[in-house]
Amino acid sequence: MVVPRLTPTLPSSRLSAADQERLRKFYERIRADSSTMAGYPSAMDYDYGELKDLLDYSLNNVGDPFVAGTSKIDSREFECEALEFWAGLMRAPDDDWWGYVTNGGTEGNLYGLYLARERYPKGIVYFSQDTHYSVTKNLHFLNMRNIMIRSQPNGELDYDDLRETLKVNRDAPPIIFANIGTTMTEARDDLGTINEILDELAISNRYIHSDAAMCGGFAPFLEPRPRFDFADGADSIAISGHKFIGSPMPCGIVLARKSHVNRIASAIAYIGNLDTTVTGSRNGHTPMFMWYAIRALGEAGLRERARRCLELAAYAEQAFHEAGVEAWRNPDAITVVFPAVSKGLQRKWQLATARHISHVILMPHHTSDMIDAIVADIACELQGAD
Ligand SMILES: *Cc1c(COP(=O)(O)O)cnc(C)c1O
Repeated sequence: MVVPRLTPTLPSSRLSAADQERLRKFYERIRADSSTMAGYPSAMDYDYGELKDLLDYSLNNVGDPFVAGTSKIDSREFECEALEFWAGLMRAPDDDWWGYVTNGGTEGNLYGLYLARERYPKGIVYFSQDTHYSVTKNLHFLNMRNIMIRSQPNGELDYDDLRETLKVNRDAPPIIFANIGTTMTEARDDLGTINEILDELAISNRYIHSDAAMCGGFAPFLEPRPRFDFADGADSIAISGHKFIGSPMPCGIVLARKSHVNRIASAIAYIGNLDTTVTGSRNGHTPMFMWYAIRALGEAGLRERARRCLELAAYAEQAFHEAGVEAWRNPDAITVVFPAVSKGLQRKWQLATARHISHVILMPHHTSDMIDAIVADIACELQGAD
């Protein structure tokens, strides 16, 4: 018997006219909504058109990126190159780092906490009030002891509260979950200060994870450079790929000291690889976006985009002030915070709002025109409220 060659079964021409129309409307809505997205950090200045044909293939980077598996339809080679680039920017120790392209910051944070737990099974996780909502879920998954630390008004960890809390729990190794850009105010916890506190208390068994989902993509370019990376004492770092870097699909990068990863690596015969990652199958397309971004932009291009975001943020802060809106931002932040706006404006500009504050996050594709329009809307609303 001859089995005929497989022909594609899902070209769009097989769709009914009604479905085609529905798709067209969907495209239109997404295009329009993308132009009014101001409250979430999704860079949209990319053009990954050269990668379009890869949608014809089932790329799967199952298992460890650095180990060739039995299946060859993967993009590991590109993934490793992207990882190496970011490991360099994160000042990872030359022969002691490892990482992979994740499904996003949350997975990277889960992974960092997992490594920490395997290193210190009896450790206690410390994280600030302003930490991303997913951390409590991750801690629940991992069943780790944890203590929430107060935040300062700007969203940064309250170091005095950390010191006092560490003092009374000296019997358990601390696992510090540091925010490198909190969700609402983009506050950055300072690894230098955290390490000073740990040194002062003579606590040598410690693990520090940097949640750099928000700022990891541009923090290396800030001056002064925030203290958040491996050279500053981090054991693992999570970055989101779809935020500052930009990606049509959510993804992220997690990097860790290799010695921590060796502890959890186990060989799996079925895939001919190491089971060092959280999921089995892994997206083979997102590493291509991460690779394309670094090759097309390079360090200089990324730095320039960071500069542009900062310039837009400074512009926005000033425009708000001129319009009488009490806006503020943390030092070198691309997030501008102001009093919570109405549900209507939250919807119009997709503004994240929590605990009486809203914010805009300036991304490289944004323009001063967009900022002017948002400021005018908010000022108008405030005047109406008087
Ligand atoms: C966005 C974000 C996360 C979650 O990352 P995802 O990529 O959405 O999974 C975690 N922490 C912080 C501080 C973030 O900004």
